[in-house]
Amino acid sequence: MFDNPEFYKDIIDNLYDGVYFVDRDRRITYWNKGAERITGYKADHVKGRFCRDNILNHITANGIELCLTNCPLAASMEDGLPREAEVFLHHRNGHRMPVVVRASPIRAKDGKIIGAVESFSNNEQVIQARRQVDELRQSVFTDPLTDIGNRRYLEEGIHAAKGAADRGTSIAGLIFIDIDNFKQINDTYGHEVGDQILLMVVRTLKYNLRSTDLLGRWGGDEFIAIIHDAQKISTLQDIAKKLRVMVEKSRLDLESTRLSITVSIGATLLQKDETVEDFFRRADQLMYKSKQTGRNQITVK
Ligand code: GH3
Ligand code: MG
Repeated sequence: MFDNPEFYKDIIDNLYDGVYFVDRDRRITYWNKGAERITGYKADHVKGRFCRDNILNHITANGIELCLTNCPLAASMEDGLPREAEVFLHHRNGHRMPVVVRASPIRAKDGKIIGAVESFSNNEQVIQARRQVDELRQSVFTDPLTDIGNRRYLEEGIHAAKGAADRGTSIAGLIFIDIDNFKQINDTYGHEVGDQILLMVVRTLKYNLRSTDLLGRWGGDEFIAIIHDAQKISTLQDIAKKLRVMVEKSRLDLESTRLSITVSIGATLLQKDETVEDFFRRADQLMYKSKQTGRNQITVK
């Protein structure tokens, strides 16, 4: 049975994955049932045609056409190496389908490359699952009101920053920000206006940090910025000062009034051999010092 080529053909015919062969000219010589199912094209339609006729017309996620310039089958026949790629193929009904393709050369007994085989599997489920993981990750690490990172996100971020610092690749800085007299806003104007003020402060902080810095909501009206590669205390001082001024100069226009708010800030650099918990605590204490010295202050040490 194992000597009989028909036996193998039967297996390949009925594989769930799509499989097809091409000769050296990239003419399609074989097309299995999986390929029919995934692409919508019957074997009769494609056999004898060239893969470069653009039947499948593989493109990358960026829309770059692989068939004419960067065909994995052509490349595998050229250098004899197998290849794998995530591509989007053209389905007979017109739509684009995500698939993982694997191309390998086919050799004659003497070792000469006489063609190539491509197998491809319908990647929809994989991509769907990945999307769900991304969404879940997003919800686990995001503060729903402000749409920035939450406390967990900050904890992960600071552990990563400490890792980089321990390896000597960067110096992490922490900026602890607490809105001044925020309760009074809620009490005077209501919770909804309070929420708008929170969002105003978050946007001001976000747009005045570099994209490499992390901003998250520590809780209530407390925010933390993790400054990667802070290098020296004066850098941190400059950033903290800018954030304080930018918040002070932000303004929420309501129908009957204009509201502004200030923040108190503590900022510090991660010390050698310091734990993440101590780092947070020190930044919090420095922020508290700014409260004690009149609010709308920065304390950087
Ligand atoms: P301090 O200058 O000492 O920080 O005074 P404060 O009033 O800001 O301090 P406190 O911590 O006592 O109050 C924080 C307030 O933040 C209390 C709470 O009502 C309010 N708060 C927390 N989360 C939210 C929120 O999601 N929305 C709104 N509108 N208010 C919130
Ligand atoms: Mg506060």
